[in-house]
Amino acid sequence: MEKILIVDDSPLQATQLQTILSDTYDISIAQTGEDGLSMVNKEDFSLILLDVVMPGMDGFTLLKKLQEEIITQSVPVILITSLADATNEQHGLVLGAVDYITKPFNPMVVKARVNTHIKLYNYRRQAEWQSMTDQLTGIANRRKYERYSITKWNEAIRLHVPFSICMFDIDRFKAYNDTFGHPAGDKVISAIAQVAASYLKRNTDFLARYGGEEFVAISMGDRSEQIFAYLKKIRQAVEALHIPHDSAIAPWVTVSIGGVTIVPEMGNSYDFYLKVADTMLYDAKKKGRNRVVWANEQLKQMFES
Ligand code: GH3
Ligand code: MG
Ligand code: MG
Repeated sequence: MEKILIVDDSPLQATQLQTILSDTYDISIAQTGEDGLSMVNKEDFSLILLDVVMPGMDGFTLLKKLQEEIITQSVPVILITSLADATNEQHGLVLGAVDYITKPFNPMVVKARVNTHIKLYNYRRQAEWQSMTDQLTGIANRRKYERYSITKWNEAIRLHVPFSICMFDIDRFKAYNDTFGHPAGDKVISAIAQVAASYLKRNTDFLARYGGEEFVAISMGDRSEQIFAYLKKIRQAVEALHIPHDSAIAPWVTVSIGGVTIVPEMGNSYDFYLKVADTMLYDAKKKGRNRVVWANEQLKQMFES
């Protein structure tokens, strides 16, 4: 069930709204703007029904606060209020409310409007998700990576935590396509993405398809030795899929991995370290493929023994 939050200081009004909607939606109620704000920050709601006139933080103030935060600004807010004049209605809509309903309200109309806004919200979420997802593999795409990497890089600078950039590239993949065909190649790309994703699933990890047969991963918090050891496991897991390759080249499909760990500081360039990761990948290829080559915090190279 979709979750709706009702913020209203009047228990009677809140209960009335709840009665109208509770057969279709999972309803939570906050009796003050302050409680409403803390609930929105803790739970994912698909819609907020917000009273305007409340003691303490009023509805307009809460709406403004919600609009200021990236996480809460996308949640649709319908204002429900006894302030029926055009000035207040306009003010609420300018602040970012998706709709404005005046009291006394008609239950059927409220329900219809709620349904419409939840439907629109879901379309928008789905469209956003699709625009950030790689169609073949279902993991994040390059566009998502571009956004995520910069946000997390700045976060790592602020928190002084290790930040790792990692590039994966499937070995001799042109030959694989030539032997087995492009559709079979697509399946391999997808299978490898699933393996990598199954290892990189902490909320400090991120994996995206960088393009073609290349992936990029970002991981925060681990030192170079830890992440290096972990990526060896991922490399081995890909090999252990035992996807047959052209036997003249290699028995199984494998990946080469290169990357770098740094504790970034203000003024460091993300692009510089991305290039370092790419150079490590290049070295992994040069050294014979199916291996991890890493640059540690002092930019000293680490190789698989
Ligand atoms: P290396 O070990 O040096 O990485 O050799 P490689 O053959 O993998 O490298 P190269 O960059 O020469 O070739 C990459 C190949 O990946 C070429 C292209 O046909 C294939 N490829 C890229 N994107 C896709 C895709 O979406 N699907 C399939 N099936 N193949 C792809
Ligand atoms: Mg490549
Ligand atoms: Mg390749």
